[in-house]
Parts: sequence; structure tokens; C-alpha cells
Amino acid sequence: TVCMIALDKDEDMAVATSTSGLFMKKKGRVGDSPVSGSGFYVDNEIGGAAATGLGEDIMKGCLSYEVVQRMKKGEHPMEAAQKAVDEFSETLRKRRGKAGEISIVAMNNRGEWGIGTNVEFTFCVGTETEKPQVYISTPQENGEIK
Ligand code: ASP
Repeated sequence: TVCMIALDKDEDMAVATSTSGLFMKKKGRVGDSPVSGSGFYVDNEIGGAAATGLGEDIMKGCLSYEVVQRMKKGEHPMEAAQKAVDEFSETLRKRRGKAGEISIVAMNNRGEWGIGTNVEFTFCVGTETEKPQVYISTPQENGEIK
């Protein structure tokens, strides 16, 4: 899945996802990517979030909505995304012994961004003044970006 969150000069935000779904998926399967609140969510007054990974797990946690609600309560996007992924992954591990791969990108309406992941994850950040830069993060770094 490719996810994108954008903030323009008028402080309008948008979020988008594009996916081929899971490899070898069953015909008719609908993953998280086209489902608002799960694969993506945005609120101009707060910020946006979008997810990639195992759609069935992302949908169970309504994770994009969860991240935006955490930002609404004042969490930085990095904290919101990483805590949402960590807490829900832990819930899944307790319930059934394992969690699917989940990665989330987040940005608030001030342009502060973050990611949360339970797997190695590559993402890109660009601004008006800075060229897009590619980052790789792993869960062990706990939101710290290399
Ligand atoms: N989230 C997508 C899905 O479950 C798959 C992906 O991110 O690669 O359909």
C-alpha cells in the first residue's frame, strides 16, 4: 500500500491510499485501504493518518482513526502513531499470540509528522523547502528515525 498525507498552504489536509491488497488474497476481499477510519483518516482541525500492513488487523483496531484521536488529545504524531501500533499489537498478541505487520504514517495540521510500526518500514517526507527524504525505521527504534 502507498499512503500519503498532505497539508497545503491554506492548511487544508488530504490523505490517500493506493493498494494491490494482500498477496494471494481471496477474490472479493476488501482490506483496510479503502475503508475510512481503518486505512486512512483525516480531519482538517487535527491531522491525518494512513496505514499499511495486514488489513484485517488494521481494521480491527480502526487504527487511522485511533491515531487522529490521539493527536486530538495532544499527542505528537510520532507518539500517537507508535503508541497506537504498540498497544494494538500487544492486544493482538494477548488475544491470539501474534500481531500482523502494521505501519502507520501520521501528520498533524501544523506539519509535524510521525510514524508507528511493528516491522521495518520505509517512508518519505518532503516539505515546501526540503527535498523528499527517505527514512527507514524499525520497531526497536521506538519511533526514533535513522
Ligand atoms: N493493507 C493492505 C491490505 O490489507 C495491504 C498492504 O498494505 O500491503 O489490503
